[in-house]
Amino acid sequence: MKLQHLFDSHAHYEDALFGEDRHRILAGLPDQGVEWVLNCCSDLGVAPLVVALTEQYDFVYGSVGVHPHWVLETPEDYLDQLERLARSPKVVALGEMGFDYFFDEPRDLQERIFRGQMDLAQQLKLPVIIHDREAHEDTYRVLEEYRLPGIVHRFSGNVEGLRRVLDWGMYVSFNGDITWPEYNETALKVLAATPMERLLIETDAPYMPPKVLEGQLCDSAMLPHIVEVIAQVKGLDPQEVCDISAKNAREIYGIN
Ligand SMILES: [Zn+2]
Repeated sequence: MKLQHLFDSHAHYEDALFGEDRHRILAGLPDQGVEWVLNCCSDLGVAPLVVALTEQYDFVYGSVGVHPHWVLETPEDYLDQLERLARSPKVVALGEMGFDYFFDEPRDLQERIFRGQMDLAQQLKLPVIIHDREAHEDTYRVLEEYRLPGIVHRFSGNVEGLRRVLDWGMYVSFNGDITWPEYNETALKVLAATPMERLLIETDAPYMPPKVLEGQLCDSAMLPHIVEVIAQVKGLDPQEVCDISAKNAREIYGIN
């Protein structure tokens, strides 16, 4: 049976990797059961395209924000620019923001731009989308201080870290990682420990396709492969996983 009501809570259709195929792929998603997409922004340079996609497609919502990988390119007035972009009616979150210690961007600058966006989210009353790569303790330190509503996307911490994030009222999302056996040990323990009412699904398209589609450009129509793993771990029907995760995503993003 084909799954319905899929909500991809984190995808990057503004990414240059989609090139000429961007509009063909997006236009085909509703027929494949994808009912909502949150197009997550990674830097100010692509933000206008993110906003334009929310205007072109009924089912696409957006966020605006600066990913830690792009902090060196970020202009001084980034918060003014983000505030302006966030006024667009289908921009429903700020992000992605946070720490990325896989790359070499100065950590103090990453923190300054992360905190700037947390302050803005608090002021605009928008949920935050958090990126944490190899920076769990620093990420938790900032999240604990602010305790804003939001999502730690592609949650990569351990079960102990998960409990802390859940205590602060946040949601976590899972992507194609959980279909790759080499990642499974910690990720599957974390998945098992995540209550369904705090769980979101995402592709992080065009990155991280499910294992069975290795080498392909990832898009939201690949969500069923991720849903399948979650359904197995949780002992649920796959459609239930779609319905619950979509309800959660609509709640946190404020989409009726
Ligand atoms: Zn992302």
